[in-house]
Amino acid sequence: MIFCPECKIAVDPEWTICPTCSILLDQTGGPTTRPVEEVERYASNLAWFYHLIPVITGLMALGIGDYLVTDSNPLLRTIFPPFCLIVGGWLGLILLGIISSYQSQP
Ligand SMILES: [Zn+2]
Repeated sequence: MIFCPECKIAVDPEWTICPTCSILLDQTGGPTTRPVEEVERYASNLAWFYHLIPVITGLMALGIGDYLVTDSNPLLRTIFPPFCLIVGGWLGLILLGIISSYQSQP
């Protein structure tokens, strides 16, 4: 974040003049001239089909969770399968991260 050196308000990087005190803002050597960093994507070193792992594990967990509560009360049948879907997808993401850490970087 850039601040005006005079009145210490936060200013937009594209502004050349402070809107409050009208002084010329110094644009040289500041963080504004730095190029935007490339966003690092999660497990970007793996092929696209590896990214289906969380989907598959989530759906598997959903199926298992649904099967486990077939004979239970309606509340449990409502809550437990989505919970399994979330946890299964999360475990799939962890698995994807582990696989990604073992693969060589491109
Ligand atoms: Zn100012």
